[in-house]
Amino acid sequence: MRPDLFRHTIPFDDALRRVLEAATPVERVVTLSLGEAATRVAAYDVTSTIDVPPFDRAAMDGYAVRSTDVGGAAPGTPVELTCIDQIFTGHVSPHIISTGQCAEIGTGAPLPAGADAVVMVERTSRQGGVVSVRETARARQNVGPRGGDIAVGQRAVRAGDVISPARAGALAAIGRTTVEAFDRPHIAVLSTGSELTPPGTPLPPGHIYNVNSVTLTAIIRQHGGEPVALDHVDDSIDALVTTLEQAARYDAIVTSGGTSVGGRDLLLDAVQRCGTIAFHGIAVRPGKPTLFGHIGRTPIFGMPGNPTSCLSNACILLVPFIRKVARLPPWQPVLRHLPLARTVKALEDRHQFYTVRIVGGVAEPAFKSSGDITSMAAADGYIEVLAGTKGFEEGETVTVTLL
Ligand code: AMP
Ligand code: MG
Repeated sequence: MRPDLFRHTIPFDDALRRVLEAATPVERVVTLSLGEAATRVAAYDVTSTIDVPPFDRAAMDGYAVRSTDVGGAAPGTPVELTCIDQIFTGHVSPHIISTGQCAEIGTGAPLPAGADAVVMVERTSRQGGVVSVRETARARQNVGPRGGDIAVGQRAVRAGDVISPARAGALAAIGRTTVEAFDRPHIAVLSTGSELTPPGTPLPPGHIYNVNSVTLTAIIRQHGGEPVALDHVDDSIDALVTTLEQAARYDAIVTSGGTSVGGRDLLLDAVQRCGTIAFHGIAVRPGKPTLFGHIGRTPIFGMPGNPTSCLSNACILLVPFIRKVARLPPWQPVLRHLPLARTVKALEDRHQFYTVRIVGGVAEPAFKSSGDITSMAAADGYIEVLAGTKGFEEGETVTVTLL
C-alpha cells in the first residue's frame, strides 16, 4: 500500500478544466456517404451549384392558371377556363397556357409556361374540359419558386455544423452523395487487471468478466468517438508500458484499473515511466483514484477499475473531452427536479455523484457501491452532493441529471 499517493487530490472543477485544456479538436477530414454522415461534423461549407427546387412548381394539387384570368373569380361569379393538359410530377408540359386556359397539375409538378399561379382543386369544379374557378389567385400563389428552398450559391451546410438527418437531406437536395466531415477521435480503450476475462469465454477461478471495456466503448461511441478496444493487460509494468507506448498513436487513451494504492496498482508507475502525469486523485465519489496525463502528446485517462467509478468518471470527465475533440457541442443532459426519497449526507472532502432511480416521481437512492455496476445500471440519473454542504433531507427537491 502507498497511502501517501492521494494527499493531493484536486477538486472536480479543476480536473475538468485541465482535461478540457488538453482536448485538441481533430483536424483530420474524411469523406463520408450521406448515409454515414448523420451526427458527424461538417468540415467545410457546402455551397449549392443548383437551384432547389430546380423549377417553379405547384405547391398544391389544382389548376395552373394565369392570375390575371381569375382576378374576379368568387363563389358567386366563377371564371370558366379550358383545361388543356394534365401535368404530373416528373413531366414538363409542352403547352403554353394562354388567356382562358388552365392545366390540371399535381403537387410538385413543374408549372407550365404562361401560368403564374395554382388554384386549389377544392376551389374549382369541372365539367369535361371546362373548369370553373371560384376563387381569385394572386401571382405566384401556391407556387414553390425555383431556388426558393436553396438557391445556387447558398450554403446547404456550414463548416462546424452537426450533420443532422435534415442537413443530410439538404445535401441530398443539392445532389451531393458525399460530404467531408471531421474524423471521429480514435480512442484506445485498455482495461488492466490480471483478474479480467472477456465476456463470452469461461471464467477461470478468481476471475471476473471485463465490464469496463464494454462501458467505455459504449460511451465513447455514444459521444462521437471511435473506440479502439485493445486486449486487456495483466498487472505487469512492462506489459503496461509497451501497450501504452503503442496506444499513443491514437487521439487519446482511456485505461481502467490499477490507479489506486494497492501493490499491483501499477498504472501510475507505468505512465511515469513512459509519459507525464497532470494529476492523480480527484475529490469525487465515486472515482477518486483517477489519473490524467500524457504519453508523448496523447492524453491518457486512468480510470479506476471499479465499474461504477470508471463509468461515472467517464460521464463527467471523458464525455466533455471527447465531444470537444470531436467538435461536437457540449452534452446537454436532461434535468429533472424531484423530491428525494431518503436523506443523502454530504462528504467532508469529496463531491458526490450519487445515483438515483426515479420511482413514482420521487428520486430514490440507487448507489450501492463503486464496485457494483448496478449502482449505475439500475439508476436513471444522479444528483450532485457538494463537499462540505449539509447534503439533502428526505423530501427535499433535488436536481437529477438523467443518464
Ligand atoms: P483496481 O482499480 O484495479 O484496483 O480495481 C478495483 C476493482 O475493480 C477490483 O475489484 C477489480 O477486480 C475491479 N475491476 C477492475 N477492472 C475491471 C473491469 N475492467 N471490469 C470489471 N471490474 C473491474
Ligand atoms: Mg486492478
